[in-house]
Amino acid sequence: MQVFKFGGASVKDADSVKNVASILKKHATEPTIVVISAMGKTTNKLEELVNAYFYKEGDIQTILDELRAYHFGILNQLIQDKSNVVYNDIENVFVELLWALEEEPSSTYNHHYDQMVSQGEVLATKIVSGYLNESNIKNKWVDARGFIQTDNSYREGKVDYELSRKLVQADLLPILNSFNIVITQGFIGGTSENFTTTLGREGSDYTAALLAYFTDAKKVIIWKDVPGVLNADPKYFKNTKKIDELTYHDAIELTYFGASVIHPKTIKPLQNKNIPLFVKSFIKPEDAGTIIKESDKRNNVPSYIFKTNQILLSIQPKDFSFIAEDNLSNIFNLFSKHNVHVNMMQNSAISFSVCMDDDNHKLEPLLNDLQEHFKVLYNKNVQLMTIRNYDQETISKLSADKIILIEQRSRNTHQMVMKEDSAT
Ligand code: ASP
Ligand code: MG
Repeated sequence: MQVFKFGGASVKDADSVKNVASILKKHATEPTIVVISAMGKTTNKLEELVNAYFYKEGDIQTILDELRAYHFGILNQLIQDKSNVVYNDIENVFVELLWALEEEPSSTYNHHYDQMVSQGEVLATKIVSGYLNESNIKNKWVDARGFIQTDNSYREGKVDYELSRKLVQADLLPILNSFNIVITQGFIGGTSENFTTTLGREGSDYTAALLAYFTDAKKVIIWKDVPGVLNADPKYFKNTKKIDELTYHDAIELTYFGASVIHPKTIKPLQNKNIPLFVKSFIKPEDAGTIIKESDKRNNVPSYIFKTNQILLSIQPKDFSFIAEDNLSNIFNLFSKHNVHVNMMQNSAISFSVCMDDDNHKLEPLLNDLQEHFKVLYNKNVQLMTIRNYDQETISKLSADKIILIEQRSRNTHQMVMKEDSAT
């Protein structure tokens, strides 16, 4: 038993889907659960659709047309026979979306978001599964919402491990006796009231890890467009190095600080059952990639994690009281209430600074609540640089031409919140 995960980039067009099929042909030599994300940038498009619907930002019809054209465009190249059931399945998804969009919003933004955005994964898995059938690669499409059960925290569904494990073992595992390949969606789950939830952006890796955990899989492979886990994001850095081997501990630290190669929640379930995780290239599937597993070898390669589009909040009690336990607990309760993840924090006597992602829909309600007791100042468009296994030279190089707003270091990790120096 093994679990594979293919992300959006690996199914972004017809040729990519064909490549997935050839990887499965070669590497699905034992029962394999295949977790797939939405194609290409579909999730972002669906987010635009929800914003157009809920906040009246943008034109619903245009976005819907783009989504249709994109998915049918790929399908047309993969399956010529228009009477194939997949055409009908894809059409149905769009019909249901349209019905939902014609109703006025009746619930929260997050609720509508999950019902709509989750369709990206449904579309992708239907197309891939249909193409595999067409290519005589026997497989079974299954709906992840039937066994990944969550509470109703929309956009951040909390997985009910016990119930999900039972459902996976009772309903999913037996399918692998008759089908060597099961195709299912990452990122999405279902509630006891049969609503759809999502597990947080980029959450498909987490789904793969959960399925491995529930089925005691031998390994997980995440197939990516990079050769493995790199020491920096090639988007921002030249001369990146692949890390051959990482411990769970190092992997969790890297992803926690924002290395976007794997979703941070992925490691824990795998570590708990000692299931190795491989990150491999779907472009060069024979290459070794990176293996993440238990080991006493520590990784000493310096790694750089760069997050842009950050906000630095400075929070000060209005009554000039100290930032002590009661104020801190108050502040943290509000962060937790608004589901805001703190990327870095620091306090002085009467001020508490927090670096967070810039999410417009989260910032405003958070500020409203904070401003009841605190004076809040904020700096938008700042950057967070995290260096693991740092040295002074690298720090100086990476902060040249920048203004450092906050700096913090521990034995292995150095972090700075910076902004561009407009004087240079
Ligand atoms: N499609 C979802 C997203 O883009 C989940 C994933 O890709 O893992 O966030
Ligand atoms: Mg994605």
